[in-house]
Amino acid sequence: MDTKQRDKKYIMNTYGRYNVALKSGKGCYAFDENGKKYLDVSSGIGVNSLGYCDDGWVDAVTKQASTIQHMSNYFYSAQPSKLAETLCKLTPFSKVCYGNSGAEANECAIKIARKYSFDKYGAGRNEIISLKNSFHGRTVTTLSATGQENFHNFFFPFTGGFLYADANDINSVKSLISDKTCAVLIECVQGEGGVNILDKGFVKELRAICDKNDLILIDDEVQTGVGRTGRLFCYENFDIVPDLITCAKGLGGGLPIGACLCSEKLENVMQPSTHGTTFGANPVVCAGANYVLSVVSDKKFLDEVNKKGNYLKEKLLEIKGVLSVRNLGLMVGIELERDNAHDIAVKCVENGLLIITAKNLLRMLPPLNISYGEIDEAVKILNKTIQEDI
Ligand SMILES: *Cc1c(COP(=O)(O)O)cnc(C)c1O
Repeated sequence: MDTKQRDKKYIMNTYGRYNVALKSGKGCYAFDENGKKYLDVSSGIGVNSLGYCDDGWVDAVTKQASTIQHMSNYFYSAQPSKLAETLCKLTPFSKVCYGNSGAEANECAIKIARKYSFDKYGAGRNEIISLKNSFHGRTVTTLSATGQENFHNFFFPFTGGFLYADANDINSVKSLISDKTCAVLIECVQGEGGVNILDKGFVKELRAICDKNDLILIDDEVQTGVGRTGRLFCYENFDIVPDLITCAKGLGGGLPIGACLCSEKLENVMQPSTHGTTFGANPVVCAGANYVLSVVSDKKFLDEVNKKGNYLKEKLLEIKGVLSVRNLGLMVGIELERDNAHDIAVKCVENGLLIITAKNLLRMLPPLNISYGEIDEAVKILNKTIQEDI
């Protein structure tokens, strides 16, 4: 049996996979089991921030793996404490709580927001307003938080207490606020929902409404965080500071990590026994994340992410068959005239370009250190694929 046959026989069928078994990678390039080379502008859904097997990242991770690979959270450990210090020094936040994924980071944020309200106002003030078309994860609670009806099926009963407002419509949010509301949950750029960039005015009004009503503003930075949008965290583009942010995907540079960062007013909400994790704060993973942050937090690096994003957008708009392009930094959605993004993505992969979709868009989340030459090559393969199709 080869890899694909074994996968089909023994792994539950939760993904429609591309017809490729990847074996190795370096930088922006991946190689399949037959030795075929692919340019990857998906980064494992925004995870491989520095591409495949970046030398510095590999050094940091392997060094830590051969020093101590895991200890329980009942012991102090240098790597997670350094990572938390760096995250807090680079942001206005004061404390970090670790987990292993985006969904877990969001669960943690939801728990903190609800406990803050419970401690201060008592039971019953627990509703969270999220936005339609959002995506917050696959656990039963984060599915509830996700503002898309098709995610609210099969697994009943879902966690209660979530209401869904229209993005960019402040009156829609206001109409859902009551004495039961404790938090508002947003993605400043909706990733899975189709690279929808929220209006700055809307986000600022949300901040003001949350201040006025003592609601916790939670910003899901799982996809947008750690340099993806040309700022260390996406909220910086909107001139606000949330009360809680969650990050995951790109933080570990390819190893599983989730982190929830909170402002000072929330830093003591969680106490021993209110939250925990066996694997979270793993030193090998945190060593990788420390390395990623040491590269990505540099202002010049982030400026380049912005420049590359704009360069990529301009090149994409020159392609015949591309209707529009939405981007913030290197988070890019491409709308096609023929509305056949999925077919084009499959053909791109055949033509050596690993690309993903979001709703009816093609989506690019390339490694943040992609070169201009590699951007040109990606655009060339996409152009060829679209023209072959017309
Ligand atoms: C991917 C994603 C999640 C879920 O992260 P997992 O690591 O898959 O649990 C949550 N929120 C956003 C915005 C995401 O893009």
